[in-house]
Amino acid sequence: MVFSVAFKEDKVIEESFEKFTKEFEEFYNIREAYSKPQIFILENRESVNQMLKRITPDWLVGWAERKNVYILEKSAFVKEINDEDYAKLIKHELNHCYFYMVSNYCDKPRWLFEGIAIYLSGQLDKRLKPDVYKNFLNYYDNSDDNVYKESGFAVEFLIKYYGKPKFLELIRGLKYIASKEKFVLLFKEVYGFDLKYDNFKV
Ligand SMILES: [Zn+2]
Repeated sequence: MVFSVAFKEDKVIEESFEKFTKEFEEFYNIREAYSKPQIFILENRESVNQMLKRITPDWLVGWAERKNVYILEKSAFVKEINDEDYAKLIKHELNHCYFYMVSNYCDKPRWLFEGIAIYLSGQLDKRLKPDVYKNFLNYYDNSDDNVYKESGFAVEFLIKYYGKPKFLELIRGLKYIASKEKFVLLFKEVYGFDLKYDNFKV
């Protein structure tokens, strides 16, 4: 595939980018020098499809690969999006880049990977809070649009009740984890309780 890439001066996105990266450096305790992520704006759905080599659904508007964030151009959204929500999307994808850095490029469990991105980018919608948890643990190495439903709330619970240090310990531990079973053990080791729905407060 051939893509034409051009530098674009975008003060609004750049300003958000600076703000978000500072927040994530603080959250993930990144003190040493590192190369910052870069943002690539894809002009249309066809470019997204070609880049991901498949027909993508309308809800797939951005993703992160190592230190690159890819995001669909705002005007190409099927459902119109305002600046604030667009910035949240960028923040969400940027968060994935920082998660990658801290976990040595892990993206599993998917609920944890997506959950922290939703939580830290301000995408948690309290109105959609579930009554009980019943689906986020289905997402270890698979993903669909339902992964976003509970994972942000589950991560919010872990951070609010047990704090950031434990959460970072969990993410840092991912680099040694090769399976769902091993993650269950790591989780228990860090939190002292089993990874099951009953142990998560809504
Ligand atoms: Zn995501």
